[in-house]
Order: sequence, then C-alpha cells, then structure tokens
Amino acid sequence: MEDTDRFIAILTALTEEYPDTPSMLSYRSPFELLIGVILSAQTTDDQVNAATPALFARFPDAAALAAAEPAEVEALIHSVGFFRQKAKSIVATAQMLVDEFDGRVPDSMEDLTRLRGVGRKSAGVILLHVYDTPAIIVDTHFGRVVRRLGFSTAAEPGRLERDVAAVLPPEYWNSASMRLNYHGRRFCFARKPDCAGCPVSDLCPSAFSGSS
Ligand code: SF4
Repeated sequence: MEDTDRFIAILTALTEEYPDTPSMLSYRSPFELLIGVILSAQTTDDQVNAATPALFARFPDAAALAAAEPAEVEALIHSVGFFRQKAKSIVATAQMLVDEFDGRVPDSMEDLTRLRGVGRKSAGVILLHVYDTPAIIVDTHFGRVVRRLGFSTAAEPGRLERDVAAVLPPEYWNSASMRLNYHGRRFCFARKPDCAGCPVSDLCPSAFSGSS
C-alpha cells in the first residue's frame, strides 16, 4: 500500500476511534483560545483551564488585556509556570491585536506567528479550531506517532511537518493533527505503546516492536 493510502486508511480507523476531537483547552472565543495556547507552553492543558476563567473574567477581550497591569496578570496566571514571561507575552499579543488587527485574532500563519509567544504549532491550533484552515500541528504526541507509523524519521518539527505534507493531502491535515495527537495520548504512549489494543496495528510498521 502506498504511504498516502496507508495514511488515509489509518485516519479512517482513527476517526471511528475518536469521532470528536475537540481542543483540550477550554475557550469561548478565538481570543480566549489564542491566550490559552500561549499559556499552555511547557504546562498541561488542565493547568491552563484552571487558570483562565479568572483571567478572562477580569480581562475578557484584547482591549482589556492590552491595558492590563503586568503584576495583576502575573498574579492571575501564577499557577501555569513561567508566569512573568507568559504575562509579558499575552499582554504584548493583546496590544498587537488592538494595534494591527482591530482587536481580532488574525487568520494566517504569517500574521499569527508575528504575535509574541505564538510559534507554528500554536498558530496551527488557531487555524484549525477557529478558521477550519488546514494545519499540521506538530507536538510531542503527533511527532512520536508519525515516526512510529513510518511517515517521517525527523525529530525537528519543521522537517516532520514537511514530510507529512508531502504524503498527506491538505484536506486530511486537520484530522491527522487531532487524531494522531489523541492516539498518542490514548494508545501510542511514549514509553509503552499499547499495540495490543491499537486499532491501526495492522497498518503500523512499529507494531509490537517496542520502538520509540
Ligand atoms: S501499533 Fe503500537 S506503535 Fe503503532 S501506532 Fe499503534 S500503539 Fe503506536
């Protein structure tokens, strides 16, 4: 089976396993998702979800956050780690939204990655969830599962993204981004993948090999 056909067959099976793949960050607006994504660097989604209700109650939109006192923001996000750096990033991002984008979250990779604290991975989350634009979101789970499935050998996210883009048509990118991420959390664990329970073991070159 060619790699493209095999990738699509894997996604078909994973869509049955994970029919709904919502963001694990809680949000009510594009602004809230953007800020949540910035805060989620090097911490868990649960920790971000615990901190953001109070943050957004105090600063509900870009204009409010752009005018915030850093110390007040720091106190509200203290629990997510790297809070000083992250407070600077979210206030600077809010200021840029106000100054350059009329308070709205931009809809292109180019504009999103100009925002402080927003890299390609974070921008991809916004493109996928807010604008339904094709995006390959390379995080630790996605990268591990792609390598085990044999679609890339790259450790570097940019190279791995290009390898996936070369095999998979863009209309499948969002499904792959979410479902391979879910699969890495539910079966294809970093240390001991559950190949016996995995619904795509017959399509995986690493099945039962113990490879990482
Ligand atoms: S068969 Fe094993 S290594 Fe392959 S995707 Fe499934 S859990 Fe991961």
